[in-house]
Amino acid sequence: MAGYLKQYAESTRSTPQREQIPGRTDQVENSEGGFVWAVDCWTRLQRFLILGSEGGSYYATEAQLTKENAGAVLECIDEDGPRTVSVIVDISKSGRAPKNDPAIFALAMAASVQDVNTRRAALAALPEVCRIGTHLFTFMEIVGNFRGRGRALHRALQDWYEEKNPDALAYQIIKYRQRNNWTHRDILRIAKPKGETPVHELLYNWVAKEPNKTQGDLENTILNPAMPTIIEGYERAQMAKSPADTARAVREYNLPREALQTEHLNDPEVWRAMLDMGMPMTAMIRNLATMTRNGVIEPMGGSYTQMIVEQITDPAALVKARVHPLTILVAMKTYQGGRSIRGANTWTANSKIVNALDAAFYSAFGNVEPSNKRTMLAIDVSASMTWSEIAGMPGITPHIGAGAMAMVTERVEPACLVTAFSSSWGGDGITPVDISSARRLDDVIYSINSIGGGGTDCALPMLWAADNNVDVDTFIIYTDNETWAGTPHPSQALEQYRQKSGLPSKLVTVGMISNGFTIADPQDPGMLDVVGFDTATPNIMSSFSAGAF
Ligand code: CA
Repeated sequence: MAGYLKQYAESTRSTPQREQIPGRTDQVENSEGGFVWAVDCWTRLQRFLILGSEGGSYYATEAQLTKENAGAVLECIDEDGPRTVSVIVDISKSGRAPKNDPAIFALAMAASVQDVNTRRAALAALPEVCRIGTHLFTFMEIVGNFRGRGRALHRALQDWYEEKNPDALAYQIIKYRQRNNWTHRDILRIAKPKGETPVHELLYNWVAKEPNKTQGDLENTILNPAMPTIIEGYERAQMAKSPADTARAVREYNLPREALQTEHLNDPEVWRAMLDMGMPMTAMIRNLATMTRNGVIEPMGGSYTQMIVEQITDPAALVKARVHPLTILVAMKTYQGGRSIRGANTWTANSKIVNALDAAFYSAFGNVEPSNKRTMLAIDVSASMTWSEIAGMPGITPHIGAGAMAMVTERVEPACLVTAFSSSWGGDGITPVDISSARRLDDVIYSINSIGGGGTDCALPMLWAADNNVDVDTFIIYTDNETWAGTPHPSQALEQYRQKSGLPSKLVTVGMISNGFTIADPQDPGMLDVVGFDTATPNIMSSFSAGAF
């Protein structure tokens, strides 16, 4: 009998990952048949809002993953609808997510449920989540699948237009013209706002007539002193006969790229004019290749190169423009590659610009505080981490994203070790990664990319640290939580490590895929589950590590 008891006690300390830890019936089976914990619907909601379901994962198609995530959103709404809406608004407004589409999707769901308080809160939040025309078009596309149009929806749409001041509204109308076959004209036709001011009314009439305007309409627009000047500027840019005319219109009316004739957008003078007028940060970052091809960014530098470098390396400007680090990472990867995604265009990357993007990536996280704890960063590079794309961002697989996130922490922590792990390497399954602040991101990405493949065992970092007598206060594991290939469970490996080292070590798991799993034991306050590529993540991890919560 004593033998059985001892065996049972032993098995609660060291269980194969493909078996449930005895007594822990709260464990669930992940996609690999490993036993982990399920995150609650609120964590799931957060993962979805930040990581999205675009492109699916190694285990699920995009449609399956979207369905699972939609289920999690409904579960949250069931528990507390208004709280769900405020989480959506908070993550969307703070710019913590690389894309706003999941927030728009979740808001459209909330706007369509039975519960009237939830619906009301969701529609009231429309202008906060759908801040630009494009967001509004996406919302219209999605909400149509969930609900019919009703008075409450019409009123929310009316407010979207009526509550903007005329100049801000005119800018929206000119810059964000259409998406998924939705235009302002379509929405105004449905919502029928009455015109908060006479200028609103002018704008609505202009939108209604714009596709089939007559010479008379055009003259009325240009000659009407009450019309916001950007509309006049748009009309002039549409009539411009040459790039020089277009550049003049840009300087006179401060027009965005979207207001200009496509065939004039190859001309460097037009881009110099937009830069001089203060091109928005996101537009600048997205058009670096264009500006390199047309010579605005010169091989040897030059004043415009200098201007661009200064702006994209300005931390305050990056944060203010809500430029997400993942956007910068993608821009850097594409720009440095010298070839457009479809491969039609090529350019020679300017190294000053690549270095500026490298710096901008870190600045976009805001100010990251160190925990000053001995920290072991461990990147899961198993096969499933080398598939799919985070938030549908081209080329950013979970393991590449993990490498970039690890760089953010490595740069601020004085005592830090970076490793990658895979169960198929034999031996201890751990390899050091030469990530140092001296290396540029594209270089690190290249290194990480060359070591992917094999099975997943998230216990490896703790087992390695125990075997090698390395003192670690905090383990940070970047993974999709699909661990299966070993004994013991990661939570047991942490406990064994604590016993052996005598340290109250903590474990942070950084979820890189929007699934429902975590290796973090919810009953252990020394373990935390965070979301990869949430801009708030580096600071959440360091305060947890430092003992703030
Ligand atoms: Ca895996």
